[in-house]
Amino acid sequence: GGEVQPVNGGHGGEVPEIRYTKLFINGRFVDAVSGKTFETRDPRTGDVIATVAEGDKADVDLAVAAAREAFDHGKWPRMAGSERGRIMLKYADLVEQHAEELAVLESLDAGKLLAVVRVLDVVSCVSSLRYFAGAADKIHGETLKMSRQLQGYTLREPLGVAGLITPWNFPSIMFFSKVSPALAAGCTMVVKPAEQTPLTALFLAHLAKQAGVPDGVINVITGFGPTAGAAIASHMDVNMVGFTGSTEVGRLILEASAKSNLKPVSLELGGKSPLIVFDDADVDMAVDLAVSASLFNKGEACVAASRIYVQESIYDRFEKKLGDTMKSWIVGDPFDPRVNQGPQVDKAQYERVLSFIEHGKAEGATVLTGGKACGKGGYYIEPTIFTDVKDDMIIAKEEIFGPVVCLMKFKTEEEAIARANDTRYGLAAGVVTKNINVANRMTRSIRAGVVWVNCYFAMDNDCPFGGRKMSGFGKDLSMHALDKFLAVKAVVTPVHDSPW
Ligand code: NAD
Repeated sequence: GGEVQPVNGGHGGEVPEIRYTKLFINGRFVDAVSGKTFETRDPRTGDVIATVAEGDKADVDLAVAAAREAFDHGKWPRMAGSERGRIMLKYADLVEQHAEELAVLESLDAGKLLAVVRVLDVVSCVSSLRYFAGAADKIHGETLKMSRQLQGYTLREPLGVAGLITPWNFPSIMFFSKVSPALAAGCTMVVKPAEQTPLTALFLAHLAKQAGVPDGVINVITGFGPTAGAAIASHMDVNMVGFTGSTEVGRLILEASAKSNLKPVSLELGGKSPLIVFDDADVDMAVDLAVSASLFNKGEACVAASRIYVQESIYDRFEKKLGDTMKSWIVGDPFDPRVNQGPQVDKAQYERVLSFIEHGKAEGATVLTGGKACGKGGYYIEPTIFTDVKDDMIIAKEEIFGPVVCLMKFKTEEEAIARANDTRYGLAAGVVTKNINVANRMTRSIRAGVVWVNCYFAMDNDCPFGGRKMSGFGKDLSMHALDKFLAVKAVVTPVHDSPW
């Protein structure tokens, strides 16, 4: 690894025309009230891609007012679910028709591999809309036989105005992981994309309007967390917040809810997920899994396997093979189809990851591969494996969110369970074994939102996603995600002179 390769084939990596850079409020692109803007940069070079409107509290107030009006008096929450579903299907078709433009914008803004964004991110966006479009007319309550004198039923109603705050690592997927179920439920919303990657959310807002989503239903405020994000989290007229991001900011969101209107909050936060490889595993397969589990999306994945535990009898073979594979990993321009890993999203993340690497060295861990920046300009980092890692080292405990993995050895299943669970986080885990009994005991014992057996990163629309412990609470994907946007109301009537 190490060398930044020249662009070759596919899209040339040139900056396309950026069409949408203003706030999207009540169906129109508008400047920020303050007139302020901020720059979004190309992580390959650090060059400015575009200047984007910087929304803050005043703009959030306007967006929430538009969403409130669209909820209280607009068509969206009142139309038949099937009609919302029909508009969402049209929206999905439009995203599909604009797949290439979306993919290029996403790759450019976030430094993601274009080839992967085309087949994964964009496809997931379309399928998320279609999944929840199908759910929009299947929102049912229950009937309740209460006592003999009472009859009850439940209504499931849209919660109102949703505040949706998203991170930069999967900007479009995160947009739809919140927007699709919110639309299906009949909510209206204010979305605040991450300041590192504001471009695709604005583009997607434009497509929503084209699809026929009424004005005011989706509003997008680009801007910073402590201003725009905090204004959403503490707004008295926002009825729920769906947040994905760091544990640190998740805590602030919960606090803002507590101090304002006690709005329900769902938090998809950080992780320090273990991958546990037992000695009956096929080492080649396990190494391939370990590489993608730890390096996918340059390690900028909340579920990244950043702690890899390998049973001692196969450890040496595994270490050699993992080291060789990571050394052959090509770091470079994400528009080059030969490249395996693009640049970290921005300068701050790049510096943060490098400082964790320095911490690891200072703490006495051994650098097996990588351990430094690479390329000329841009935010490229070599895939880094640390060995001789002790469980209490910072690199083994804290989320690094980059291409850095701790490789460790274990003896027994009990030890693997204890060490896997010895973390404040509980987002994901992977187990590699051919023994069904080992797999079953591990899946029951690991405290995480998802346990992958002989696979990793396996997700789909119907598979609930979200952590426990300090990885947060509440689920994205699946019908559980729809529930977050619905309130259950019980209705009770008396039944006079019932013989039953
Ligand atoms: P971040 O928490 O700094 O930012 C996430 C979002 O919150 C951004 O839109 C940001 O502007 C906003 N924000 C920041 N401060 C805020 C505040 N005070 N009030 C309201 N909003 C605020 O996280 P990040 O650095 O952008 O993303 C990396 C983190 O996200 C990692 O820790 C990663 O694990 C986590 N993540 C989790 C998941 C998941 O599903 N669990 C998915 C992706 C990323």
